[in-house]
Amino acid sequence: MTWKSLVIPFTANVRTEDYRGEGDVVHLSVRVFGADTRNEYKSVCHACSKWEGKEKGMLSLVDFHAASNVIKASDDGLVQVKFKFSCYPKHQNPNESAYL
Ligand SMILES: [Zn+2]
Repeated sequence: MTWKSLVIPFTANVRTEDYRGEGDVVHLSVRVFGADTRNEYKSVCHACSKWEGKEKGMLSLVDFHAASNVIKASDDGLVQVKFKFSCYPKHQNPNESAYL
């Protein structure tokens, strides 16, 4: 079976949630680790959640940017995904220089 779409997490900057349980998709999940401490981070720091959280609700550490959470693959099987981190590594831990 070949897959036709990528389903990304439904975050603040994904405009519509279109996934209806189709089978021919691949689900993207992202895990974030600190480059220096190797800790896993699952959410933004307390300060960033206060700053951004008022309007948008729960802010995810990895915020995807897309019109839909279902991204159709092109004929050659490629998809492009845009995201940004909603919090800086140094917020999580002063010794953290980067995310992995
Ligand atoms: Zn932060």
